[in-house]
Amino acid sequence: VDFSSVDRTIADLETCLKTTREVSPTEELLVGVDLGTAYIVLVVMNSKKEPVACAMEFAQVIKDGLVVDYIGAMTVVKRLKAQLEERLGRELEKAAIAVPPGTGESDCKTHGYVVEGAGMEVTNLLDEPTAANAVLGVENGVIVDIGGGTTGLSILENGKVVYVADEATGGTHLSLVLSGAYKVSFEEAEDIKKDNTRHKEIFAAVRPVIQKMATIVKGHIEGRNIKSVYLVGGTCCLTGMETVFEKELGIPVHKPANPFLVTPMGIALSS
Ligand code: ATP
Repeated sequence: VDFSSVDRTIADLETCLKTTREVSPTEELLVGVDLGTAYIVLVVMNSKKEPVACAMEFAQVIKDGLVVDYIGAMTVVKRLKAQLEERLGRELEKAAIAVPPGTGESDCKTHGYVVEGAGMEVTNLLDEPTAANAVLGVENGVIVDIGGGTTGLSILENGKVVYVADEATGGTHLSLVLSGAYKVSFEEAEDIKKDNTRHKEIFAAVRPVIQKMATIVKGHIEGRNIKSVYLVGGTCCLTGMETVFEKELGIPVHKPANPFLVTPMGIALSS
C-alpha cells in the first residue's frame, strides 16, 4: 500500500469539506454516500477520480448499520446533497452506498431507499471495508473499519475479499466509557475524545475497549496467515490505536494519517 499517495488524496478530500473544485457541466461525477452511526458523509469526485467536494453531518439516525430513523436519515442526505449541488452547480443523480459487512438484505434495501428518497439512483452497494480497499489497494491482509457503532473487517487474499465480519463495538462505546469516567454527558465525552490533544490523557480509560476491538479482530483472523492489518474509520483517529492492536495481534498494523475519510472516498470511487 502506497501510504503517501493515500495520505495525499485523503488530505485533498479533507480540503474539499471547505473548498469546491470546479467541474465541467458534462463530466461524469462519482458520488458516495456513507450512512454511518455517527456521521453521514457525501463525497463527490471528478472523472479523473480526484475529490471535488465533500459534506458531512453528525446524525444519530443509523445504529450499528441499521437505519433507525428513516425520515431523519433521508432529510440529512437531502440537505447534504442540496449543499453540494449548490457548491458544484451540478445535479447529483447517482450514488454508491456501503453497509457494514453482513448487513441483511432488507436492511441493505432500507439504506438504498434513504438515498433514493433523497433523489439519487443507487448504482452500487458494497460493504464498508471493501469500499475502503478501493482507496488502499490491499492485496493480502485485513482491513479493519472501526466507526461509531461497529468494528468491521475484510480479509483479502490476492486482492479478493475472502471473509467479512462485523461486531457491535465502536467509537460510541469509547464515548460511553469516557462519559462515565469523566462524569460528563455523552456529547461532551465525544468532544473530549475527538480532541486529538487529549488522546494521551484519555488513553488509560479507553484502552480496555480498544483491547476488546483488537480481540474481536483476533477471533476472526485466527488460523489464517495474515501478515498485515490496516486500520480505517473515524475511531482509528485515536492516537495509539495501532500500538494496542499490534500488541494484541502480534502482526504489523498500518494506519493512514487520517483514517476517517477513507471509506467514504472508497464508496465514491466504487460508484
Ligand atoms: P459505522 O461505520 O459504525 O456505521 P460511522 O460510519 O459513523 O459508523 P465513522 O464516521 O468512520 O463511523 O467514525 C465515527 C466515529 O469516529 C465516531 O465515534 C467519532 O466519535 C469517532 N471519531 C471521529 N474523529 C475522531 C478523532 N479525532 N478521535 C477519535 N475518534 C474520532
